[in-house]
Amino acid sequence: MTHVSDTCAELIGTLAAGTPLTHEQYRFLFEHSTAEHYQLAAKEARRVCDRHYGRTVFLRGLIEFTNHCACGCRYCGIRAKNTTVRRYRLTDTQILECCQTGYKSGLRTFVLQGGEDAWYTDERLCSLVSKIRAEFPGCAITLSAGERSRQSYQKLKDAGADRYLLRHETADQVHYAYLHPTPQSYRTRMRCLADLKALGYQTGAGMMVGSPGQTPDCLAADMVFLGSFRPHMVGIGPFLPHHATPFAHEPKGSLDLTIFAAALVRLLLPCALIPATTATASASADGRIRALGAGANVIMPNVTPAVGAQYELYDGKLRSGLESAANIAELTAALEQAGYTVPVSRGDFTDTQGGLYV
Ligand code: SF4
Repeated sequence: MTHVSDTCAELIGTLAAGTPLTHEQYRFLFEHSTAEHYQLAAKEARRVCDRHYGRTVFLRGLIEFTNHCACGCRYCGIRAKNTTVRRYRLTDTQILECCQTGYKSGLRTFVLQGGEDAWYTDERLCSLVSKIRAEFPGCAITLSAGERSRQSYQKLKDAGADRYLLRHETADQVHYAYLHPTPQSYRTRMRCLADLKALGYQTGAGMMVGSPGQTPDCLAADMVFLGSFRPHMVGIGPFLPHHATPFAHEPKGSLDLTIFAAALVRLLLPCALIPATTATASASADGRIRALGAGANVIMPNVTPAVGAQYELYDGKLRSGLESAANIAELTAALEQAGYTVPVSRGDFTDTQGGLYV
């Protein structure tokens, strides 16, 4: 091994032993790691995940309930300026039917994901959450509905929401501004995340890997941020371009680097719930199984009806096969075949590290 290679292996070992790295050390890893280090990190990450969660994979039913969005994130296919998208909102009845379908298939968490849609006032969204809470008292409700006020988050929590996903996307402020035009701001995103955690939500952050303008420094900033914020869930997927965005002609993010970043996050946050994301599965046929092999422990089958085909954040997004509600039994069988267990469970965050995530 060369000196650089030894250093990368040592840094992975340090992280695996429970010591977070510095910004410079993370940057070194992202700059110099090779396929051999990617494998080492994946192996260690799977071992750490086994220790905290065993070989369990938790399923969540993803419901893309509105593709209206007021924002202009430059990477996103449903950004407000894309006039070619057919916009939709599911009715409450349709959403409850999605939950029912998912429940019958063994799902006990429903993830309501949507754009920043002002039609969903607090009153409307709280009413929807209350209906799901009343009809499915034993299930977890996760929201992914963007930036809202602290009061709004509080009301939604009171209505019965348990978890909230809001990716930070990048912890580098300059990079954040490059991906998100004004009036979106890094400060507001961080304020929202802090509010969510303070209000007692199981809170999810996360980022794309390979997004335009991202450097090893940006990824290092992500790791440092995740280490200090300690989210309960971390979603990491490769950047995949969408044809009707300003980034249409940018290259895809590397799946190998994405899985490496996810493995490092598992080493940093042993108790976190880390999905093998749809973007990872969309990037490659074996993307999902490789992500599980590197310490991911969540899969989110899509239970949105056909209209959800308009929820196209990037080109080539999987909506069928093992990503769909119709095939949850098949997905479960494939996971069991690969040595994982798939419980009928809410799959809550479990802090086996003694309060580090509060
Ligand atoms: S990433 Fe989310 S907030 Fe940004 S444009 Fe897309 S749906 Fe809207």
